[in-house]
Amino acid sequence: MSYQSTNPYDGKVLQTFEQIDAAQLEQKLKQASDCFENVWRQKTFAERSAVLARAAAILRERPQEFAELITLEMGKLLPQSLGEVALSAAILDYYAEHAERFLAPEKLTPRRGEAMVESSPIGVLFGVEPWNYPYYQIVRFAAPNLMAGNVVMVKHASNVPQCALAFERLMQEAGAPAGAYTNLFISKDQVSQVIDDARIRAVALTGSEAAGAVVAARAGQNLKKTTLELGGSDAFIVLEDADLDKAVKHAISGRMSNSGQACTASKRFIVVDAMADRFLEKFQAALEKFQPGDPMDKQTTLAPLSSKEALKNLLGQVDGAVAGGARVLIGGKRIDGQAGPFMQPTILTDIDKNNPAYKQEFFGPVALFFRVADEDAAVALANDSPFGLGGSVFTQDIERGKRLARRIDTGMVFINSDLTSSPELPFGGVKNSGYGRELSGAGIQEFVNKKLIRVS
Ligand code: NAP
Repeated sequence: MSYQSTNPYDGKVLQTFEQIDAAQLEQKLKQASDCFENVWRQKTFAERSAVLARAAAILRERPQEFAELITLEMGKLLPQSLGEVALSAAILDYYAEHAERFLAPEKLTPRRGEAMVESSPIGVLFGVEPWNYPYYQIVRFAAPNLMAGNVVMVKHASNVPQCALAFERLMQEAGAPAGAYTNLFISKDQVSQVIDDARIRAVALTGSEAAGAVVAARAGQNLKKTTLELGGSDAFIVLEDADLDKAVKHAISGRMSNSGQACTASKRFIVVDAMADRFLEKFQAALEKFQPGDPMDKQTTLAPLSSKEALKNLLGQVDGAVAGGARVLIGGKRIDGQAGPFMQPTILTDIDKNNPAYKQEFFGPVALFFRVADEDAAVALANDSPFGLGGSVFTQDIERGKRLARRIDTGMVFINSDLTSSPELPFGGVKNSGYGRELSGAGIQEFVNKKLIRVS
């Protein structure tokens, strides 16, 4: 496995990076561990906060430089890359500002004497991260944990090495001491070695179910805590009293943002009968407007997928769905005349329970459309999934929306919107979508020692 930066738009290899050897890995582990013990855990919240706030400021001063690297390596539209850089800065600032309050000691009231719970850092953490939001994914893990006094080591996805290095440099430039944030270009075997290493205290992974299962099993053998942020197949429920134009607008952003390569993308469109034809007509018309092109060009509305392999997998899923009885309403094929891996915006209908597509995650611009009789059928279908990440409900009756939201077995439900991420909102799922939370106050509590101090 090598770390290679390839521009998905034209297939040009931009740069290749060597994996580190055993001696280099040992040196980095030692540096991280020393940094934790002797430097970072000793710092005050104000000192750590200054580093994170400076990193946020640098992202805001030079957004173009950071955003262009995202687009070059994984192909998303440049305005969306700029949005990711801004969100990453906001997360850094959020934890710089609020971490001390989130981790404030809690005074207890025992029958006699004194007792309190303090939150102390646990040590060196290891994160395995995906390519689809190359900075945001790292920041969600690094920002809260650095503020908590832990240090972090990250194995990023092998197709975004320049973003991985850019983030490491950003932290250095912001004043993080050597070893507080470490990028690791390592093989999967070395991932196992790192998890086994006694200096690593816990592991976080964002990625596929397959990778999550492997990494969590290894951590489990070592009795180390994990958090897993895995795949999703979010339901997008439209009830008969929904604002149709609003629903269609969010259906488009929910399915098409990041070329559909998001864990919380809207993937299963579940529409009650009374609204189904009208929704489908408008949704289809809006999808047909997307124009492929260079993601660096601000006129382009449809970006390539991240790699040829990603397109091949997605086309294979569409073929499997059709073989299983699904109908292609629009799209279903690669876009000809483009060098890069472009997928036509696609709607699949007539997907029954036995169709393989029924339980799969489609990581690209492919919408699965389901027509249901009423809200009960919509909830039943939404929950009939191995995943439990997010979901949306569209209705003009907010109380009805909340009642439905409570019945949906996911970590997040948005009423009258597709899913968006924000520093103050907890992010995470249940079922095969993983466990644990990132962002918000919850995200900083995962890897701290809630230590009881008792005075008798
Ligand atoms: P992936 O293959 O699981 O890759 C994610 C990370 O895991 C990469 O760094 C990858 O390294 C590493 N990895 C893969 N297999 C591994 C193994 N056996 N041992 C150790 N490390 C391993 O995920 P992907 O397919 O690129 O990303 C898409 C998936 O991530 C989708 O399912 C998506 O829904 C999910 N995702 C979830 C969230 C969330 O927050 N819930 C967010 C984004 C994406 P290499 O690149 O070197 O293979």
